[in-house]
Amino acid sequence: MTDKAKRFPLTLASVVDQKSKADHSKRSVATPQTATKNAAWDSSRPAPAAPVSKPMARPAQTASRVERSGSMVSDGVRKAMVDRVARQGVKDAKVLAAMEAVPRHMFMEPGLSSQAYIDASLPIGHHQTISQPYIVARMIEIMRDNQQGGVLNRVLEIGTGCGYQAAVLSLVAKEVYSIERIKPLHELARSNLRPLRIANIRLHYGDGMLGLPQVAPFDGIILAAAGLEVPQALLDQLTIGGRLVAPVGSRHQVLQLIQRTSKFDWTSTTLEDCHFVPLRAGTV
Ligand code: SAH
Repeated sequence: MTDKAKRFPLTLASVVDQKSKADHSKRSVATPQTATKNAAWDSSRPAPAAPVSKPMARPAQTASRVERSGSMVSDGVRKAMVDRVARQGVKDAKVLAAMEAVPRHMFMEPGLSSQAYIDASLPIGHHQTISQPYIVARMIEIMRDNQQGGVLNRVLEIGTGCGYQAAVLSLVAKEVYSIERIKPLHELARSNLRPLRIANIRLHYGDGMLGLPQVAPFDGIILAAAGLEVPQALLDQLTIGGRLVAPVGSRHQVLQLIQRTSKFDWTSTTLEDCHFVPLRAGTV
């Protein structure tokens, strides 16, 4: 359930040199890109061997070289990703710093880690995707823009996936709870997060539509999957003043911010268009 932790953040060098991806070869092969129009290429075209966006331009590299070459995967490439996210409109310095600190490539299987820093969501297996860097940053920025100057004690993520967004959240909130409904992804996230030794993340396997009433209330809730509406159970688990950010819709989706203003009142604001995998009930 919980990743044992000693200290976080680790220096990047201490994580990129690890052989922690060795057991990835045993994992199921990633499914094709699903439910994302955010990808830099569409599914009818083969994925490029190397990043296509300008700031990231570099020679094609094999995954094993990516593993070995700390310098390739670390500071420069990730900095370019963060610069791009900032150009796309994310201003919150704490969010940008968190994005720069988390080694996104460690949440991908080796075959895709050379693309970890491109501006796209990418397959993580089981028809699910790791979210595009911009949308991860943007949702957290919206959640942090609260009356407490960005202070977040307890936050909840619905849809752990590979664990990347939970890792970013762990740098902006005191406690992070994250729920995943697909058992192998819950386990994938656990093994991805283990080498990072993040003390303040609690992973749960279950139906996130029910939230975590035993732990609530939460200062912030982020849904990483889109439903036709936000489940009432989650609204009930917000603190007064708490902020929930969720994609809502099916084919056409929008990002919605819901703020709890009193015990019985919530306000809703519709923000930008987005595209996420669907929110589904139950567990598998
Ligand atoms: N947060 C991830 C994104 C994962 S994609 C990242 O860092 O990139 C969305 C995830 O939501 C999928 O893994 C999917 O299985 C999960 N999901 C969908 N409905 C869910 C539900 N009701 N409860 C928990 N997880 C759910």
